[in-house]
Amino acid sequence: MSHFEKMYRGRLAPSPTGYLHLGHARTFWTAQERAKAYDGTLVLRNEDLDRARCKPEFVSAMLEDLPWFGFNWQEGPDRGGPFAPYNQSERFHLYRTALEKLRASGFIYPCTCSRKDIQQAVAAPHVEDDEPIYPGTCRQNRQSQIVNRKFSWRFRVPDGETVSFTDGNFGLQQFVAGKDFGDFVVWSRRGGNDVPAYQLACVVDDAAMQITEVARGADLLVSTARQLLLYRALNLTPPAFFHCPLFRDETGERLAKRHDASSLQTLRTSAETPNSLRQKYF
Ligand SMILES: [Zn+2]
Repeated sequence: MSHFEKMYRGRLAPSPTGYLHLGHARTFWTAQERAKAYDGTLVLRNEDLDRARCKPEFVSAMLEDLPWFGFNWQEGPDRGGPFAPYNQSERFHLYRTALEKLRASGFIYPCTCSRKDIQQAVAAPHVEDDEPIYPGTCRQNRQSQIVNRKFSWRFRVPDGETVSFTDGNFGLQQFVAGKDFGDFVVWSRRGGNDVPAYQLACVVDDAAMQITEVARGADLLVSTARQLLLYRALNLTPPAFFHCPLFRDETGERLAKRHDASSLQTLRTSAETPNSLRQKYF
């Protein structure tokens, strides 16, 4: 395919906030199959920015569970590579540089709203898996007005603009800024945290690691629209996207990390083999 004329580079980007489960494995399997099909490189990136929830034991489990299931990557925290480090917690300087760029060019503003403030200001949560649309309370804020107060940096979306992309799996996707999603946090400075938000870290790393295609769960389709705005604001070239249907159990419920029964740790001690699991569920 012509848009992968460059060497294909895909990634697995787990967050060590719990044990990996079959839902992750299925999405990652697609990512690995895509990289294999293009004779490309697969990168393992450890998304360990949430210091309150990420635990070293989950990183060790990840590094055991993934090879057991049949995953193999060429670059990662355990084996290095040309774009090291592969732990997000060691890449703060890159995120700060990007934040400074966004700030200097006026794309972001300081927001002092608490989660409760936002929930009270909006009628109902928008779609499943997604955050409520930010009501714009702090859009006029300037950093100088709020010294000594905790705030987050929020990206001002271009209201009314349609963000489109062609997903490798779902085809044409269109989301209207300000309607399907609102101003979103790119850096969080509250609750003892001072960390880049997922959207910013993901964009900065996928660009820096020269990822050519992002394969991930369909719950992130709207986030892709947000991230495309970040790519544009940061003057970076976005990768291609391939979103996978979400994995649901027999009852139709989406598998979450707290479902211990489907964690790879538990399955490793059961009679199931990775091969039987793949045949049964993928
Ligand atoms: Zn606010």
